[in-house]
Parts: sequence; C-alpha cells; structure tokens
Amino acid sequence: MKITSAFDGGNIDVLAADSPDDIRLNIRVDNGSKHFQWFFFRASGVGNQALRMRLQNAGAASFTDGWKNYAAVASYDRKHWFRVPTSYADGELTIEHTPAADAVYYAYFAPYSQERHADVVAQSLTADGVRLEVLGSSLDGRDLDLLVIGEPAKDNQAPKKSCWIIARQHPGETMAEWLVEGLLERLLDPEDPIARRLREIAVFYVMPCMNPDGAFRGHLRVNATGANLNREWLEPTAKRSPEVLLVRQRMAETGVDFFLDVHGDEGLPYNFIAGPDGIPALTPELVALQEDFEAALRRASPDFQSEHGYPAAAPGEANMTMATNYIAQAHGCLSMTLEQPFKDTADTPLPEVGWSPARCQKLGAAILDALYVVRDSLR
Ligand code: ZN
Repeated sequence: MKITSAFDGGNIDVLAADSPDDIRLNIRVDNGSKHFQWFFFRASGVGNQALRMRLQNAGAASFTDGWKNYAAVASYDRKHWFRVPTSYADGELTIEHTPAADAVYYAYFAPYSQERHADVVAQSLTADGVRLEVLGSSLDGRDLDLLVIGEPAKDNQAPKKSCWIIARQHPGETMAEWLVEGLLERLLDPEDPIARRLREIAVFYVMPCMNPDGAFRGHLRVNATGANLNREWLEPTAKRSPEVLLVRQRMAETGVDFFLDVHGDEGLPYNFIAGPDGIPALTPELVALQEDFEAALRRASPDFQSEHGYPAAAPGEANMTMATNYIAQAHGCLSMTLEQPFKDTADTPLPEVGWSPARCQKLGAAILDALYVVRDSLR
C-alpha cells in the first residue's frame, strides 16, 4: 500500500500507512500562509481493502464548517468523481472506503488540472474570434492566460460591453474553473442563439485560472508566496500579487461593464451571489440590477438560489481589497462574487456525486441566460 500526492494539485502528508484500517494523514499548509483545507492524493495497492483514512489536522483547517455534512470525492479513472462515506469528529476527518480497483484518488472536490486548463484554452482558440492574451507570468513562471472573445467595436459601430469573468483566485475552489469551462463551451457554440447575440454586443475577457501556481501546488487559498489574491485588489504588487496587478491594469484599459468572480464556499450547501454591499459607490440602480440578474439566474437554473448566502456588509464597511468591491467601486458596474458549494445543494441534492463538475458546467452555461436578460441595463 502506498499513498502519494506528488503530482499536479496533490496535497497530503503521510503520517502512517502500514495498515488499511489505520491510515493517518495531514493536509499540508499552503506555502507562506496558515491556510489549508484542499487535499488530493492517490492510494495504490489497495484493491478490495477496507480503508480507514484519518485526516488528523482537519480540526485546524481554514473552514471547519466545511467538514460538517461533507463527503469526500473519489475516482478510479480521474474522470468520474463520486462521494464516499466521510465523517468529522474530534478534529479529525475520517474517510472510509473499500476501493474496487487497485488504485484510487481521493480529493476535497473534483480536481481541475493544469493539463485540462491547457486543453480548454487550446480548444477555445480554435473557435472564430477568440484570442489569447498572456498577461504575464505568475511568481513560479506560469503564463497568466486571458481569453478574449470578440473584437472591440469599430468607430462606426455601436459600443460593445466589456464583460469580465475570472475564476480560481482561490486555487482549491476548483468548481470555479469547472463552471467557467461550461460557460466558455456555450459562449463559443456557433449555433447557440443567446451566445451569438451576446458575442455581438459584448467583448468577453475570461480568465479561467487566476492562480495557476496555487492550483499546481495544491493550495486552498493563496498563491506561490502566500498572497490571498482576493485581498490584493486595492494595492497589488509585482512582487507579491502579479496575478491581480496584471488583470487590474488590463481592466483599466478595457473598462468593465459586467464582472463575475467565481468561487466556492466551504461551508454553505448553496449556490449564491455576493454583491458589493457596503461600498461607497453603491447605488439603488446597481442593487436593482443585481436583483434582476439573480432572478434571471434562478429562472435559468434551479441549482441557483438567493435565500441563503453571506450577510450584507453595512454601508461603508465593505472590504475594498476584494475583487467584487474594488471593481464595483472603480468601474461602477454590475460586479458579483458567485459562490458554489463543496458539498451539495441542499434544495436540489444529488448525493451520489454531490455538487459536481457537470453541474458546475451547466450553471456556467446558465450564467449566459441571466446575462442575456440584463444585457441592456449594464453600465
Ligand atoms: Zn474563494
């Protein structure tokens, strides 16, 4: 029996793996920070053995609410991810599973690899009117890929909206990139009427992975040197947070009429949106526009709801270092954080897989329905 995480996105430390019913593990802490919660490892030589795996430092993880009513995901073929019995007690997360194959992968949520990112970018570039802008390099030297879909309006044309969609500022929130994959697939479908109309009236700037270093390193929340990118928007620096600095600079050139920052929430079993509540520039019009967008998204997808979410920040108390707040203030546009569950949706559960890559993709496609409804009201 062997357990390893020495691969893209892997994260685990092995304390003991001598006996199948007494496997003891720790989740590695994100480099340069105190955060940890993302895990991803392979167990091999384990076919038909009853495994009992205890993640012994789970009680000190970043969001222990996340372990309540949670089930880990497993896969034999690294394509289909299913949930396995998981419990949380006395500060330990225990996964109990008898694998049907000799090797099995376990993770916090269905992983999203660097290779898959490269495939989706390459595939997207085969569609008409799609360009790749490499904004620069991450601290580990990875390309920061921005897909640009559509051309800015020429002088004799009606102006086009600038729609920005970014994902995975927090690299362990892989559901964010799964969602963007579904959104892109629909947006680039030459026969989808909503996508065609949106491409006529808008230029899309899509950043499927804001934090490729953290993703590869198996981090939950920070980049290579420990910066939480969604706390860097007020004063990003080349040394600490080039990912945010470069996107912010490009946004200043394109303007922003619509902004969606895609995340996952460890604790809440819901898809929901958090807006720029509490920013100085918030207007009744912006609040109404967000309500219209959410209503349209609820109609497009029963997996989305607006009843449960974060409490709104009081006026003047918004955290301006966060992307949604910074961009709403700087650009005066519809600006939202979309949160998806690690667990499942409480109102529309699917226990075998929980919230899953395919469900993320379908919600990503539904985003375009909602954007279509509010298109004429954008800034
Ligand atoms: Zn997040």
